[in-house]
Parts: sequence; structure tokens; C-alpha cells
Amino acid sequence: MKRLIEDASRYLMNTYSRYPLLLVKGRGTRVYDYDGKEYLDFVGGIAVNVLGHCHPRVVVAIQKQAQRLIHVSNLYHIEPQIRLARLIVENSFADRVFFCNSGAEANEAAIKLARRYGKDHFGEERYWIITAYNSFHGRTMATITATGQEKVRKGFEPLLPGFKYVPFDDIDALKDALDEKTCAVMLEPIQGEGGVRLPSQEYFKEVRSLCDETGTLLILDEVQTGMGRTGRLFACEHYGIEPDIMTLAKGLGGGVPIGAMLAREDVAASFTPGTHASTFGGNPLVCQAALATIETLLEDDRYILRECERLGEYLINRLYKLQEEFSGIIVDIRGKGLMVGLELTRECQPIVRAAMERGLLINCTAGTTLRFTPPLTITEKDIDRALDILADIFWRLS
Ligand SMILES: *Cc1c(COP(=O)(O)O)cnc(C)c1O
Repeated sequence: MKRLIEDASRYLMNTYSRYPLLLVKGRGTRVYDYDGKEYLDFVGGIAVNVLGHCHPRVVVAIQKQAQRLIHVSNLYHIEPQIRLARLIVENSFADRVFFCNSGAEANEAAIKLARRYGKDHFGEERYWIITAYNSFHGRTMATITATGQEKVRKGFEPLLPGFKYVPFDDIDALKDALDEKTCAVMLEPIQGEGGVRLPSQEYFKEVRSLCDETGTLLILDEVQTGMGRTGRLFACEHYGIEPDIMTLAKGLGGGVPIGAMLAREDVAASFTPGTHASTFGGNPLVCQAALATIETLLEDDRYILRECERLGEYLINRLYKLQEEFSGIIVDIRGKGLMVGLELTRECQPIVRAAMERGLLINCTAGTTLRFTPPLTITEKDIDRALDILADIFWRLS
């Protein structure tokens, strides 16, 4: 294991500060390292493994498809892709879907579609997109420009022209920034990388009205919040609104790399043959995995989503109890479903490391926020176990 980790620092681009941990196997809510040590996984591949690790439905879907057909070009019709698009359309606001391979690519596609729609309907000058400070939309050139955080852009200038930023959850700031050159507003329903930040309940209703009054497109980046993460298939359902364009990735394929950009018919019409493409986008293998994932999320009257909502409340209530005990460490508790942030008075990286030693994987975001994004198939017992480990760490710190 030591040798492999040495090779990692020698042969891989130095873009991640990885933990000295080599994971080789996973089952449900547990992963195992090279030495066979078991870890309870509250990272879940950062909101990717919605059904846990190696869910049998996903495994069998991939195995069967791998024997049949792994890849053909989008020059041809692909059966699993057609079935997946239909399933997504039947369960969302959207009329049409474009498949790609990641969240950043889905957002790239959304940005391109919004610009084209703006030009098609309002003229050449209508290409500005407004996003929020503290947002995260990906790591490509367009999506680091869309991302309202200085740290992801530093050193990569010049950025893409045509982006403006406003504070999240501030409707007046959005009204001031929006003008006849704005083609779209692009927001996360809950800011994930920004530290699990929820807007006030009325914010998205007001954003929706503002967009409707001005003919501006509303793009919702549900790359992290989508696919049941918040207890609904899409987080916008909590606010009672629908976007014009939505992007998905992370949880969509139950672990395989797949992204999607969804739109209403009249918006989607601005993409015509030759305007956008992706070699791997929506290939047979990943589409079968996504079909298995969505079918499992929806089966038994959305049992897993209802459990996610219930367990999210259980987790948050237990965190409030923990806060009573450790008020000097815990500042704030935020979240919906199984996307929960615990803001601390201190850097959370040492706590992440201490948890790892005790067999718990948990993530740190925005410096001081512990982020809980476990599989939606987690149990109360797993939650109790995770919080006992954290309580033990906090107790030693206080
Ligand atoms: C993770 C994330 C992205 C980027 O997805 P990649 O697959 O890493 O490109 C975009 N938007 C949000 C909200 C995300 O959480």
C-alpha cells in the first residue's frame, strides 16, 4: 500500500491533497481499505453513491450491458439512452435531455443553450448570465467563470466574458443586476461546495417570478442536490418551482460518470444538429447504470426518497442534541434530506482525519463545515454510530 501511495505522488498530477488511504472495496454504506479495515462512508463519493456501494441492481445492469454493447457513437440510436431520457422526462419538468459525462459538462451545455436561446429570441447582445457568490459549477473554463469563488479561478484568467455575480438569497441584488442583456440566471437550489447553504423559503419563488417577467431563463444546477439527495427527486420541488434548464450528474448514475442537461421544449429547440455533442455522452453502459439507479429510487412509491427525508430529519435532530453538548464547537446545522452541513468554530480537516482513524469517512467543505452526504440507503444505526464517533472526537477537543 505504501508503495502505491508513493507512486500516486510520483505519477499523478498534483491536483488533490489526498488522504493516505487506499480504498479497494465497497458494500452498501461501508468501504474497505487495502488492509481490510472497514469504514462507514458518510462521504458517498461526495453525493454520488445514492444507492450505496455496489448496489446489486446497478452491478447487474452494468454486467449485462458490458456483455452486450459498451459503446457506439451518437451517430446512431442507443436503446438505453432513449429509455433513460424518457424516464427522466416522465419524472421531471423537462421535455428533452442532453447526455454528457460530468457536472461541469452539463453546466457547459446549459450555458451554451442559454446563450443560443438568448440570441435566437432577443438578439446578439443577450448573452449575460448571472450566478451567485459562493456558488460552485465545475472546473472547466466556462464553469470556473460561472463559479462565484475567487479561489477556483486564480491563475486561469482571462475568464469567459458575460458573467455577473450577486449574493445568494438576495432577490433585490438579483433585480438590480438583471437587465435586457441577461439571458439566464444560474443557481444551485442549495449551495453545496459553498458549505451547504440554504436560501430562505420564498427566494426561489421570487427568482422564478423575476425570470418570468423578464423572459430570462432559470438554470438550476442540481448536480449535487438532484437524484433524491434532499428527499425529493429534485431539490426545486421543496420550493414549489420549476427551472427552464436543469443540470444533473453526481448521483445520476449510481457511481458511473454521467451528466445530463434537461430543458423545456421551446428552450431545447435552440440546439439543432451540430450545435453541441459529446463522444461518450449517454453511452449504453452508463445509461443502463443510470436507469437502474433511477428505477430503484422510484420503486415502492419512492421508498428510498421518503426514507432519505425521514433519516435527514433524524440526523439533524441528533446534531442539535450534539450542539447542546458541544456549543463551543458547533456553530450551525443546515441541510435538507441527506445533504447536511455542520459548521464548526474551527477548521474541520483535523476532525476529518480523527474520524478516519476511528473508521468514519466524512467530508469537509468551505473550511469549517463538516458535510454529511451518505448513501440514501443509510440506517438510523449507521447515523448513531457516526455521531458517536464525532461526539468522542469533540469531547477530546473540548
Ligand atoms: C460537483 C458539482 C459540479 C461539478 O461536477 P463535476 O462532475 O465534478 O464536473 C457542478 N455543480 C455542482 C453544484 C456540484 O456540486
